[in-house]
Amino acid sequence: MASPQPSQTKRIATVLRKVFGMAALRDGQRRVIESVLAGRDTLAVMPTGSGKSLCYQLPAHLLDGATLVVSPLISLMKDQAEKLEEGGIASAAQVNSSLSRGDELAALAAIGRAEKEVIFCTPERMVTPEFLALLKRSGISLVVIDEAHCISQWGHDFRPAYLEIGAALDALGNPQLLALTATATDEVIADIGRQLGRPRMAVINTGIYRPNLHYRVRQVTNPDEQYAAALQLVRDSDGVGIVYAATVKAAEEMHELLRQAGESATIYHGKLRAGRDGLDAECTLVYYHADKRLQQYFLIKHYPSADELKAVYEAAVALGRASFTEAELKPLLEQTPAGQLKICLKMLKDGKLLKRNRKLAYVLSGGSPKAADFQRMAQLYVDKHERDRQGLDQMVAYAQSGCCRWELLLDYFGDCPPDFARCCRCDNCLSPPSIQDSPQRIEAAPPAGGCTSTPATPPATTVRPTRPSPAGFR
Ligand SMILES: [Zn+2]
Repeated sequence: MASPQPSQTKRIATVLRKVFGMAALRDGQRRVIESVLAGRDTLAVMPTGSGKSLCYQLPAHLLDGATLVVSPLISLMKDQAEKLEEGGIASAAQVNSSLSRGDELAALAAIGRAEKEVIFCTPERMVTPEFLALLKRSGISLVVIDEAHCISQWGHDFRPAYLEIGAALDALGNPQLLALTATATDEVIADIGRQLGRPRMAVINTGIYRPNLHYRVRQVTNPDEQYAAALQLVRDSDGVGIVYAATVKAAEEMHELLRQAGESATIYHGKLRAGRDGLDAECTLVYYHADKRLQQYFLIKHYPSADELKAVYEAAVALGRASFTEAELKPLLEQTPAGQLKICLKMLKDGKLLKRNRKLAYVLSGGSPKAADFQRMAQLYVDKHERDRQGLDQMVAYAQSGCCRWELLLDYFGDCPPDFARCCRCDNCLSPPSIQDSPQRIEAAPPAGGCTSTPATPPATTVRPTRPSPAGFR
């Protein structure tokens, strides 16, 4: 990357000091901000807590047009918008389902008058034609996609609206893009670029290694043991903590258990409305994290078959219209759930049987597809299902391994430098398991005594072009 102009560096430093009251940027933040201000489409892979929001807030302050921030979590959006306004950093509007009708209309009117510098919305809102028309009037110069890994294949199962962000960017006239994510394998990075139609995005990956994170795995054999172990950990820990659960049901059960044990606990998950997210919890927050739900989806998800794809395509042909929307197609496919229909439409578009016009309506591409074409498209999903299953296997292998937990994680994310031996802080480093005869496969532990009091050196941060590569525990 070319060095920024000295005037640019000075401009950044001045805004940082005067507007944000900060003396210096972290290295990763600086490189992302410089990339954005140099006009590049950028994908920043930065761990949670490394100051990702500043990476768009500072450019938003300097850019002429408005910045659109697309975020899947309403509570975080609310928090960010309020901080920007209260801190006098930028005028901000948020548009989401937690607003009253009056507040929503006021926000939309302000956006239409181009009065807001930063606009927060959910992916579902972003992709509606009416909102896109409003955004066009507002003059968007930068689009920020938070939790960008949801755009990758995982998004197909999770929030179908993420599938449509690429088309929405087209409709907005392809403004500059900043995608943010905490962790992404090379495969996911390549997929994000592909899905957004920006395969050449500058990728700034600050590395995932954090020496202050100490990983431990506790083996349990049933949910009761799992809850008891979690409760014990809460009792043994001081201060505020977060318990992540794999399902809403598990989060609710854990929450109840903690309350009964006299702990100050509150609960947040995707089915609760924003405002009830209990961010003022004193001790323990049971939090249902978006990503964790995906693992559950992987196990139960019904992937569209070639027959379903064919049915959706034939229904589209039967409409006999020049263009049509998903809502117009739906009555012909009463048996097909809305999410499944979105997935089928996306696959037919990726398979070039459908395309989208400027108003985001679907249009037939012409030609007469053969059964093999549908089969080929469905096979892509079968392959994805297999990759998802492998992901689960990798999780099990991680839990059962006797190797350094950090080494396994760094290796999975392709971020392990050749000289990284072990973290000297995880359970396996601190008390290496002995090799034993067991029906379960336990990998050989590293020789004991290799760790000194000095923790491993964090890997250097990297800037690299997008490149696909196989990911997994190697
Ligand atoms: Zn370790």
